[in-house]
Amino acid sequence: MNSNSSSNSFDYDLFVIGAGSGGVRASRIASQLGARVGITEDLYLGGTCVNVGCVPKKLFVYGSHFREDFEASHGFGWSYENLKFNWETLRDNKTNEIERLNGVYNNILEGAGVDILSGRGTLLDSNTVQIDDKRITAKNILIATGSWPRKPNYQGAENTIDSNDFFYLDKLPKKVIVEGGGYIAVEFAGILNSLGCETELVYRGPLFLRHFDGDIRQFIAEEMQKKGVKLSFNTQIEKVAKQDDGTLLVKRECRSGEDRSFSEVRVDAVVTAIGRSPKTQNLGLEALGVEQKPGGSIVVNNNFETNVPGIFAVGDVIGRMQLTPVALAEGMALARYLFDDKPIRMDYDNIPTAVFCQPNIGTVGLTEEHAHSLGHKLELYKSVFKPMKHTLSGVDEKTFMKLVVDAESKKVLGAHMVGPDAGEIVQGIAIALKAGATKDDFDSTIGVHPTAAEEFVTMRSPEK
Ligand code: FAD
Ligand code: NDP
Repeated sequence: MNSNSSSNSFDYDLFVIGAGSGGVRASRIASQLGARVGITEDLYLGGTCVNVGCVPKKLFVYGSHFREDFEASHGFGWSYENLKFNWETLRDNKTNEIERLNGVYNNILEGAGVDILSGRGTLLDSNTVQIDDKRITAKNILIATGSWPRKPNYQGAENTIDSNDFFYLDKLPKKVIVEGGGYIAVEFAGILNSLGCETELVYRGPLFLRHFDGDIRQFIAEEMQKKGVKLSFNTQIEKVAKQDDGTLLVKRECRSGEDRSFSEVRVDAVVTAIGRSPKTQNLGLEALGVEQKPGGSIVVNNNFETNVPGIFAVGDVIGRMQLTPVALAEGMALARYLFDDKPIRMDYDNIPTAVFCQPNIGTVGLTEEHAHSLGHKLELYKSVFKPMKHTLSGVDEKTFMKLVVDAESKKVLGAHMVGPDAGEIVQGIAIALKAGATKDDFDSTIGVHPTAAEEFVTMRSPEK
């Protein structure tokens, strides 16, 4: 432990508000490094990722994909009768698994020697947290309170549901609109469509997934449409009115150049996914003068310390990258900064990410557009092919891979993919990019045959 760690005049060396990805990691590591650590949580152990995020979402992706797998199996000789899907079974099995994970998180924290409190934490001063009628003092306080779905502000927004509600729906809607063009909208549209709901994705811009590589965005849009998702771009919801029969009448405005047109559609549910705001309301930040950005995210320095000494923040609440592995890494870096002789610096370069739409997107490094804007002269390698499985499956799905290479140094700046297991494949490629791999390194790597991933090491001719 470094000199920052121990001060027995306080209840704890570190007290953490929020037991999600970032808070749990920071408290566990700090405790293992010898600090006296407490944590409080007011909703669910494990936070968003475990309860209403990555984990239930991925389980739903698996659950929904069986429809296509069953259809694909015919070409391989399988047949069956009476194929049925039961939403309640999937939803409740998912919930049981989440409850098991809540217990696992409890054990992880207890096993590491962290005191777990239950209740909403607010800051009284830079060393004191109020939880219900208790006051806890700590030398260092970590705010790891995460984020919360942003609500739309059109008329009838109260008739819509958000990602939290989606995981606990009583009934699967027959016809649904998903609003938004980011990770959640694209993933949820895939799940709902594959579960057999008539699904429309409504996005305000010309093409969704704004920060992704342009070719990837175009390619996944085509693949999703082929699978039956209706994509309504340049479209905004104006109003959602509840009807007597419980359905929703949605009024949409569609823009085409200077022209505007309005249309109405009746659906069973509108799921909104228009971003997540940092959960910083009523935490006591304003009274303490903790600096926040206009949207509410907390401003921190490279060591995750706010402008108020001794108060730190990590994860979604600092509004850098809202990804679980990022929150985990920030929590780890903070614990080591405070309590280890060998601190580590958080490195935000080449963070891989996946969108679990159907098929998946996997991506790491610079997009073509970003690399251009940084002044790189580029070589682009692209490949589109039918995955071997679909030669017999009858499924009309293609895979796309792209490498963005600096033409002078031959360094691979970005790798992007749409296809089955793209997230799994890109995780390995991310190690290569992190190590500074060049296109020659990719070329001299022997492929694993027959896989889709081998295409990443066999693309030889740059785009003319
Ligand atoms: P959280 O995990 O949200 O934890 C914050 C915790 O603090 C919560 O448990 C909250 O209840 C608690 N809290 C808040 N205020 C207080 C208070 N005052 N007192 C006590 N407790 C409080 N990321 C990925 O990397 N991969 C994915 O596939 C992925 N899928 C996602 C799917 C969905 C639908 C969503 C919504 C998110 C997804 N994410 C995914 C993002 C990921 O879940 C978040 O980036 C991650 O959970 C952030 O961790 P965190 O610790 O910052 O916050
Ligand atoms: P995103 O930030 O990814 O996307 C928000 C979308 O909503 C954008 O398309 C945005 O449009 C649109 N939008 C914003 N405001 C409005 C508005 N007022 N009206 C209509 N549309 C609006 O947020 P998500 O909610 O999809 O997800 C939150 C975060 O959670 C993600 O950014 C990601 O970091 C994380 N996550 C990660 C996942 C993963 O790793 N697989 C999965 C799910 C979530 P525009 O682009 O025009 O601004």
